[in-house]
Amino acid sequence: MPKKTPSKAKAAPSQDRAKLLRCPKCASAMQPVVFESTEVDRCTGCRGLWFDLLEHQDLKELAGSEALDLGEADKGRKMDKVDDIECPVCHGKMVRLVDRNQRHVRYEACATCYGVFFDAGEFRDWKQHHAFDWLRSLVARERK
Ligand SMILES: [Zn+2]
Ligand SMILES: [Zn+2]
Repeated sequence: MPKKTPSKAKAAPSQDRAKLLRCPKCASAMQPVVFESTEVDRCTGCRGLWFDLLEHQDLKELAGSEALDLGEADKGRKMDKVDDIECPVCHGKMVRLVDRNQRHVRYEACATCYGVFFDAGEFRDWKQHHAFDWLRSLVARERK
């Protein structure tokens, strides 16, 4: 009896998660950009940023990562109004989240693959506030 080859061993060329994501908001092509070995995708149109699972948390801790977010906040604010979007990776529905400590920062997250989308300027904003809060807590501790 011929053995069945496991279907997992297909020799099909890997899709490399099709590094050609389409922006979920404006449908422009997204371009991979690397910061300290973490790759994120930035929209060539609206400059929104796509982060895979928890990448935005990792990058927030790295000095200089706000340079990834080079879009204009004005444009980002316009794009922020677009909130009925599909995940560019798995095409699941994305939901809007608000940062617990920064209610002005609203971003979209995929409930299936946990990728997140920040409009232009939002990541920078989010990161700066985080650093500021951290500094403030440090000062508060010093004073006792
Ligand atoms: Zn876009
Ligand atoms: Zn997804």
